[in-house]
Amino acid sequence: MLQPPHQSLQVAAVAPQRGPAREQEGPWHAEAVCRRDEAGLFFAPSKEPTAARLSREEAAKRVCGRCPVMVECREHALLQPEPYGVWGGLTAAERRVVLARRRRRDMEMKKAARASQIAAAG
Ligand code: SF4
Repeated sequence: MLQPPHQSLQVAAVAPQRGPAREQEGPWHAEAVCRRDEAGLFFAPSKEPTAARLSREEAAKRVCGRCPVMVECREHALLQPEPYGVWGGLTAAERRVVLARRRRRDMEMKKAARASQIAAAG
């Protein structure tokens, strides 16, 4: 898996970015505003109360809002898919909603394509 651009100092200390993970980084990683998540905004600590989570996620989204690579980051997180954390201004739950919408849209497009093939053949 690709190293997240935003990693806590603890994670960075335990698993510094090097080797294959580093080589797999997308070019957008270098421009990530959250390269070092010193405030721990992007990933939930264990047993985080709901109010604290919502506040932390909003703060992370504000950081994403001024990030020049938000679109690339969001697509990466959707394509992986990244199961945890705020990526590209979306929480994990929000990404699940986007992915469900995309799946529904793809199914509808396939159905429409099939229907037009049948109509053309008949
Ligand atoms: S969009 Fe947000 S999570 Fe993604 S690289 Fe930028 S600051 Fe980090």
